[in-house]
Amino acid sequence: MTTRSRGPNADVGLRADGLSAIDPNKLRDDFPILHQEVNGRPLVYLDNAATTQKPRAVIDAISNYYLLNNANVHRGVHTLSQRATDDYEAARESVRRFINAPSADEVIYVRGTTEGLNLVASSYGRKYFSAGDEVIITGMEHHSNIVPWQILGKEIGIKLRVVPFNDDGELLMDEFESILNDRTRMVSVVHQSNALGTINPINAIVELAHARGVPVMVDAAQSVPHMPVDVQGLGADFLAFSGHKLYGPTGIGALWGRAELLNDMPPYQSGGEMIRSVTFEETIYNTLPHKFEAGTPDIAGAIGLGAAIEYLESIGMERIAAYEQALLKYGEERLRGIEGVRLIGSAQEKGGILSFYMDAAHPHDIGTILDAQGIAVRTGHHCAQPVMARYGIPATVRASLAFYNNTDDIDALVKAIDRVIEVFG
Ligand code: PLP
Repeated sequence: MTTRSRGPNADVGLRADGLSAIDPNKLRDDFPILHQEVNGRPLVYLDNAATTQKPRAVIDAISNYYLLNNANVHRGVHTLSQRATDDYEAARESVRRFINAPSADEVIYVRGTTEGLNLVASSYGRKYFSAGDEVIITGMEHHSNIVPWQILGKEIGIKLRVVPFNDDGELLMDEFESILNDRTRMVSVVHQSNALGTINPINAIVELAHARGVPVMVDAAQSVPHMPVDVQGLGADFLAFSGHKLYGPTGIGALWGRAELLNDMPPYQSGGEMIRSVTFEETIYNTLPHKFEAGTPDIAGAIGLGAAIEYLESIGMERIAAYEQALLKYGEERLRGIEGVRLIGSAQEKGGILSFYMDAAHPHDIGTILDAQGIAVRTGHHCAQPVMARYGIPATVRASLAFYNNTDDIDALVKAIDRVIEVFG
């Protein structure tokens, strides 16, 4: 493992309590990929909102599946198929436990958050929405929580209503209340914004929506990896997240939904696995969760996701959240100390996202200079173009945190920004 010396201002804003919640330097040893140099510098990986790195436990679970147990699930009586099925279903139970869902039957494997949102828009929306109905989203949604509703809107004639947010990136709840009305059929809202870091008040949103009998879908792509998320505590009706942002593999994620809603929804895709019986005249659908899992699933992905969850549980999501909050505060204080850096998103309730803009240089140029120093950040609109439009900027530089980041990583970022200032003035 590569360790770097602390920067000169390493004690700025240091919250000893939060920062000592976990030992990131020890946990980094679980992530082989972090121990390398990029462009001659120790890798500083700060692109965790795009995707997280995978601990050895996840890599081993996937390779063990292929080395020892590879077989299709649910259809075989032979031993390998039974082992694969057991592991695949055990991972579903891990997802259930992790988000405190009442039943594993309510946990549907999907490719990721995007597919979870598409499933609900397509299946629930096509069944229950009609022309003139309205769906409420917020102004800080990822495109995956805008476009599926928009497509449905064009098809059926539903209207998209958007809750605006203030300059700090906080939702205007009064506006939400005022657009919630008798034509509202769904509220679909991001839990933690990937562009701003804002953590939205899901409980309050659910309370207002449910008072009108409106279901709530939560895009939890950025929350589930960074804080304890309890679907029963949130009170929502649907929630989706992605495995690859949760230290698990790509191509797998989960949609949770209330059984009474999922049971009444038509299948999203059709084919094998989602049926109980088929004749040329009629098909009887399988029960939950299989009704929504047509075809051979991503078995290795599900097993890898289960391993990621067990790994996170071994650290504890409360501790991860406390640590990342402290690291965020440290990062914000350090970035605020640099003249010419404008932080985008300073909500009171905020997760580990440091999105910033500099008049001196285009975000892509900043990203290139940071990469030359071994620092991986994301530059662009982060699939949230309406957020960029709200602030009148084309893009931001986004450093996004994980529990394996430390104050040295932030100090390296700050030093590299100094280099940007040197180059661009
Ligand atoms: N929602 C949010 C808030 C995200 O940050 C992302 C990905 O960045 C998504 C949805 C889409 O996730 P995926 O591409 O894994 O489906």
